[in-house]
Amino acid sequence: MKVGLIGGTGFYDLFDTLEEQTVKTEFGDVVLFRGGYEGQEVFFLPRHGTKHGVLAPHVSYKANMKALQQIKVERVIAVSAVGSLNPAIPVGGVSLLDQFVDMTRRRDKTYGEFSADMTEPFCPDLQDSFLEAANDLDLPMHKDVKLVGVDGPIYETRSELQLFAQWGMDVVGMTNTTEAVLARELGLCFSVVTLSTDLATGTAETPPDLATHKKVAEQNKEKMKRLILQTLTKIDERKACRCDNSYKSFVEA
Ligand SMILES: [Zn+2]
Repeated sequence: MKVGLIGGTGFYDLFDTLEEQTVKTEFGDVVLFRGGYEGQEVFFLPRHGTKHGVLAPHVSYKANMKALQQIKVERVIAVSAVGSLNPAIPVGGVSLLDQFVDMTRRRDKTYGEFSADMTEPFCPDLQDSFLEAANDLDLPMHKDVKLVGVDGPIYETRSELQLFAQWGMDVVGMTNTTEAVLARELGLCFSVVTLSTDLATGTAETPPDLATHKKVAEQNKEKMKRLILQTLTKIDERKACRCDNSYKSFVEA
C-alpha cells in the first residue's frame, strides 16, 4: 500500500532507490520521493524542503498534506525533532505523540471546510505500528506523550516553557500540530515519533539552537532509520481507526 513518510532531510538513503516527483496542488507544488520497502510503496516528503532551508512557520503544510492525498496515500507517519519539557525524556529520547495543545497563531493551519473530530489527534493503528516496531528493536520509546505546538522559528522564553510544563506537556515542537490537523481534515491516518534534541526546560545550561538540533539528529539517525523501516513492515490497511470518518461524512454530505 502507499505510505507517506514526513521527516527531515536525513532520510534520503533510507531506500535503495528514490524517484523524485513533483505533485501540483492548489496550494503549491510539492517535491517528494518515491521509494519502497518490504512491499510498501513509500513517499518520502522532506518537510523543510530538499535543502532543509524552509523553517517551521514557512513550511507549505497545506500543500504537503494535499499532495499526499492526491497521490492516494492513506497512511502517513512522521518524524520530528522536539525539545523536552519532561525531565524523564532525555536528549536523544524517542517519544510517540498521543495528544497536543496547539499554541501556533501565525500560520495557515486549516483547510477550513468543516469541523473535524480531533479528540484523538493521532491514528491508533499507526501508533500501534510504531509501538510494535520499537518493541521488536528493543528501542525505548516514551508513550502517551503530549506535545505543545509553537510557531517558531524563535525558541520559547523560560516562562513559556515553565507554563507548558505546568500544563503537563512533555515536549515542544513547531510542525506536528499543524500536520495532524490537516491530515485529519483530509481523512489521512497520521502518527508521529519525535526525537528530543534539547532540554527545553529553560534552565538547561546549553541553550537550544539549530546546530545542536542537527548534531543530536545526526547522532541518532541510524536509530531513527531502523525504527522507521521496522514500522513500515507493520503498517497495513485501515483496521479499527476512524481517522477518515469526519472527512467521509463531509464529502458525502
Ligand atoms: Zn487511522
